[in-house]
Amino acid sequence: MDNVLIIGAGGGGAVVAKKCAMNRNVFKKIHLASRTLSKCETIQKDCESDITVSQLDADDVKQTIACIEKQKPDLVINMALPYQDLAIMDACLATGVHYMDTANYEPKEVAKFTYEWQWPYHERFKEKGLMAVLGCGFDPGVSNIFCAYAQEKLMDEIHFIDIIDCNDGSHGKAFATNFNPEINIREVTQRGKYWKNGQWIEIDPLSVACMIDFPEVGARKGYLIYHEEEESLVKNIRGLKQIRFWMTFSDNYIKHLDVLQNIGMTRIDPVMFNGVEIIPIQFLKALLPEPSSLAENYTGKTSIGCIMQGVKDGKPVKKIIYNVCDHAACNREMKAQAVSYTTGVPAAVGAMMMFQGKWKGAGVFNVEQLPPVPFLEELAKQGLPWHVEDVNGAVQKELLAA
Ligand code: NDP
Repeated sequence: MDNVLIIGAGGGGAVVAKKCAMNRNVFKKIHLASRTLSKCETIQKDCESDITVSQLDADDVKQTIACIEKQKPDLVINMALPYQDLAIMDACLATGVHYMDTANYEPKEVAKFTYEWQWPYHERFKEKGLMAVLGCGFDPGVSNIFCAYAQEKLMDEIHFIDIIDCNDGSHGKAFATNFNPEINIREVTQRGKYWKNGQWIEIDPLSVACMIDFPEVGARKGYLIYHEEEESLVKNIRGLKQIRFWMTFSDNYIKHLDVLQNIGMTRIDPVMFNGVEIIPIQFLKALLPEPSSLAENYTGKTSIGCIMQGVKDGKPVKKIIYNVCDHAACNREMKAQAVSYTTGVPAAVGAMMMFQGKWKGAGVFNVEQLPPVPFLEELAKQGLPWHVEDVNGAVQKELLAA
């Protein structure tokens, strides 16, 4: 296997294409296809080695099948939007090609993301001897793999997981989202949810917060939100009693979000405007900066990790595994900001694992079901070093008590 098709020429897709183009020993042929050809061409110019590009609307399964038949990839990496997941999986099944993405399916008309739509593809992928790898970005993605690593190497049982995600960067814009605005705002404005003792507990959006000490960043306020990796980790981590996900948002971000919600700009249902149906959140997306445009002048770091409490040889252990990524360094390496970089590099590394036979299987897999060690070794080499440390209970006391 050495031929990859990447679909989606946004912030994350650009990083996947550029990282693959830096690893020609693994990726002999790279094709990037997306809805807007000019975006593919800009990325093509910035790649270290030659890639080919084309225009594709991946909502149309027939178009994707035709593209796959022409390019003959071994793997399709879906870096478009969650809306396209099922259509691209269908095209992969029709053509006998492996599949990977970084975000689980959600229908355009309901803001609900869940693996319930993609997991039922398992038998069909299995019957065809094909592999579909779901959620191979940073979170979901590396966060799941940190948990798998802890389960394999650090603990006999993991009882409590807190995934902590901080973007402490500054892009200098009044308001912008670091990944696709529509998907980001749908995620953040949903009701929150966490899992405790076998049950999902719902909370009002952004209604629970506490101070968290983020490695290399310091104490920041993290909000409890629901994130998709929790759905698969509760199935795949032994002995789990609780899993929560915390993300930081600046006061400025929340202020803008409040206003946008209050005036109806985040609505996902159609409204009539001058005789034309528009969906307010899609109109809002058109006004906001593209995630890929934020890289220049972005300063600061992302700090994302998993705090895990469990037992090893009968003794309690508390560990954190994390990565810190610097926006300006990502921009210097490949004109990307750190949120796009931390999404795209793991997808490129996951593809390497498949091409090198280190990840194999037939069916639909979440990344924590695949060997964590070769992935994490390669991840560090490709620009995302990670660290394991004991958790200082005094420093994280608010989070551990929450
Ligand atoms: P962007 O909005 O920057 O890019 C999305 C790209 O997909 C755009 O180029 C867009 O085309 C293209 N696209 C949209 N619809 C279609 C279609 N029907 N056919 C072909 N191409 C299409 O988003 P990001 O790069 O920030 O995010 C990409 C994905 O990564 C999303 O699914 C997001 O949820 C996920 N993500 C995952 C993370 C993780 O850690 N796991 C973190 C951040 C993001 P056009 O330019 O024409 O609009």
